[in-house]
Amino acid sequence: MIVILKRDHNPDQLEGLVSWLQEKGITIHTSIGEANTILGLVGDTSKLDIDLIAALDIVEDVKRVQEPYKNANRKFHPEDTVIQVRDTQIGGGNLTIMAGPCSVESEEQVVAIAKAVKASGATMLRGGAFKPRTSPYAFQGLGQNGLEFLKTARAETGLPIVTEVMDVAQLSLFLDVDVIQVGARNMQNFDLLRALGHQEKPVMIKRGMSATYEEWLMSAEYVMAGGNENVILCERGIRTFESYTRNTLDLAAIPVLKKLTHLPVIVDPSHATGKYWLVDSLAMGAVAAGTDGLQIEVHNDPAHALCDGPQSLKPEAFDLLARKLLALHTAVKALEE
Ligand code: PEP
Ligand code: MN
Repeated sequence: MIVILKRDHNPDQLEGLVSWLQEKGITIHTSIGEANTILGLVGDTSKLDIDLIAALDIVEDVKRVQEPYKNANRKFHPEDTVIQVRDTQIGGGNLTIMAGPCSVESEEQVVAIAKAVKASGATMLRGGAFKPRTSPYAFQGLGQNGLEFLKTARAETGLPIVTEVMDVAQLSLFLDVDVIQVGARNMQNFDLLRALGHQEKPVMIKRGMSATYEEWLMSAEYVMAGGNENVILCERGIRTFESYTRNTLDLAAIPVLKKLTHLPVIVDPSHATGKYWLVDSLAMGAVAAGTDGLQIEVHNDPAHALCDGPQSLKPEAFDLLARKLLALHTAVKALEE
């Protein structure tokens, strides 16, 4: 971090700043120029409040040279993180395909979809039991029963399950879930993130609707700072001025995150577009751009789905797409070798 001092700064205030920083274990290199005095701060500056320093009377400007996230930062952990989930791995050159309904609606529904997506090549089953709905009058999910139905589907297919937690109070129900999803609306629920850092299950954090890469990585940092290194990031589209699609898929997130972090990246083209007929193109684009996996909504009867039918693929369409995705992934890997 670099602190640029005002020209006529008060020496007593400067001394105060310097000793405060030194108490925090920061080493200071001072460079006195003709126009400005600059302090170079060396050490772990991730815990310093940049806005607080910038607000000091004697400070002209402050610039970070190091990102504020450490555990998630590729600079301190150059190798890709590979997360073992039962007998499948997320990251490390594998293409993870999470598929299933938006919401678990019944045991029959989720078991039938699980069998279909497994036969098509899915490696994980998705399905919401606790649903974050915009309207309090909309279907809110089956809750604990939904989790039980997911476990039945896992027992019948062997597919690990990924499902969303909405509140710290629900966490004790998630002990037997394979990957815990944090939804876009909860990306900055810091109490929830902190609690997820103190348990061992892998956590998939979906990008907040208006979150920058740095804010998203800071959410991963919350979980990792608690000791849980098994974090996955999921790009699911962001809000832009375009209203034709539900959101705008940010494919640049894939190469950007690959540069900034070692964590695996998943893309959700279903919530990104809100339209089933756009899912194929964007899923293929994500694979070409280097995603570690996809999360795709599949429903056996989209017209009667209790949630997100318009963006759900029928099992037959998912089957075709999964074949294309696996073939493209093999081709992309071969080109990169
Ligand atoms: C979901 O995956 O069902 C979901 C609600 O997604 P998001 O949090 O990305 O909106
Ligand atoms: Mn959904």
